[in-house]
Amino acid sequence: MSQEDITFQKLLKNVKLYNPNADTKLLKKAYEFASIAHHGQKRRTGDPFIFHILEVVRILIHWEMDTTTLTAALLHDTIEDGAAKREDIKEEFGEEVLEIVEGVTKVSKVHLKGSTDEIFIETLRKMILVMAKDLRVVFVKLADRIHNMRTLDVMPQDKQLEKSRESLEIYALLAERLGVREAKAILENLAFPYIYPDEYARVVKSTKKYFENADKHLAKFQSTLRRELKKAKINGEIVGRKKNYYSLWKKLQRPNIDWDLEKVHDLLALRIITAEVTECYQALGIVHKLWKPVPHLGVSDFIAQPKPNGYQSIHTKVFAGGGIMEVQIRTRAMHEQAEHGVAAHWHYAESKSKDVKEKDFKKGFSVDNKLNWVQELVKWQKEMIDSKEFLDSVKFDAFQHRNFVFSPKGDVYDLPRSATPVDFAYQVHTDLGNYIIGAKVNGKMVPLDSKLVSGDIVEIVKSRHPRKPSQDWLKFVVTTQAKNGISKSLRKNR
Ligand code: MN
Repeated sequence: MSQEDITFQKLLKNVKLYNPNADTKLLKKAYEFASIAHHGQKRRTGDPFIFHILEVVRILIHWEMDTTTLTAALLHDTIEDGAAKREDIKEEFGEEVLEIVEGVTKVSKVHLKGSTDEIFIETLRKMILVMAKDLRVVFVKLADRIHNMRTLDVMPQDKQLEKSRESLEIYALLAERLGVREAKAILENLAFPYIYPDEYARVVKSTKKYFENADKHLAKFQSTLRRELKKAKINGEIVGRKKNYYSLWKKLQRPNIDWDLEKVHDLLALRIITAEVTECYQALGIVHKLWKPVPHLGVSDFIAQPKPNGYQSIHTKVFAGGGIMEVQIRTRAMHEQAEHGVAAHWHYAESKSKDVKEKDFKKGFSVDNKLNWVQELVKWQKEMIDSKEFLDSVKFDAFQHRNFVFSPKGDVYDLPRSATPVDFAYQVHTDLGNYIIGAKVNGKMVPLDSKLVSGDIVEIVKSRHPRKPSQDWLKFVVTTQAKNGISKSLRKNR
């Protein structure tokens, strides 16, 4: 077996750990397909191309994604960079996988070129349109981007800058809005030294003294805590971390901190992940017995009172090893939610049905969850529009004056404000305009001149045979497609 084959076998084992019913036959088939499609290809790093594919899949496995996503990830570069054809993928792996693969390709073609707000918004908008069909496209793209950023040092400088800016401004933002905080943090950190080399050097230099023995300290705290938790029969996983440079840099710029590292109390942190909520509070007691809580900074109980974004965890700041350390305590479910966001929902849905077959997972994803994704996306867009912070940082007019409406199948259409179901019909297909009898919005019949708003799910009630459009429609439609379509039809019918 080659090195790549061994890596793949290991990855398959990891999939089995969280999804015992995963269709490993399908994954193997996709792996073999990709190996052939990328045969002989090398990355700029000198590694065989398939290395990149496996690293992308590894990240998605860490996010515990479903089999369809993993299959699509294995195939994500086979058309664009490899020797495969879309027909082959469709035939061998089906429409759903093909759609994700093509979505990833489309997103990859959207580049942030230029630095005006308009370009930024337009880039984001294009990406959202592609993603709206299937949010799993974003996860594959995020994993792809993370691995590309990890190997960015081999690229020419202009590419490094372009990719880093995209990662920081677009992809980290997408990750954040989807709640994949882990991906956001990874991307920001990878992009930071390329975009702000001087600032990066400054942060590294000023934290040197604090981080020098950090690993040693963290290891010691971890083992002490592990011992005490064991005594109390609490099954907790403990992870230590140093604050990452990018988020630290952001924090150091706050006026109340102003580059004073003594005022940053979470340079070092331990995270305890338990199975049950009660264990969180027991663990808190043990932590405070081991290390004195810092007066005034105190304990924040976001389990009892979650943050507005739903974040749940207990935070406490304690004196440890001559400094201050933060301890975060949460359950596994809270942790998944906090780090992997929307992905966690899907895994949760999948794990709830542990004893159903993989086939049913797929069905669950394509039927039930499709609308969930749509709702998730709509919620996200609304948040974006409502977010004062966001509005302050970019001009969001472009979004505010658009309506993203959906077909019952979850396809997204970008319409201007004041668009009506008739505009929608002509946007979907000119021909559909000639069959309109009525329209349902969010499942209810509505007048044809109703104004659509972002997030509406629009269904056109069709006649059996083509009909003449009404002259009156011209009074309320706003899109050129609809105006032209109606006029053309009226002329023909005259
Ligand atoms: Mn790739």
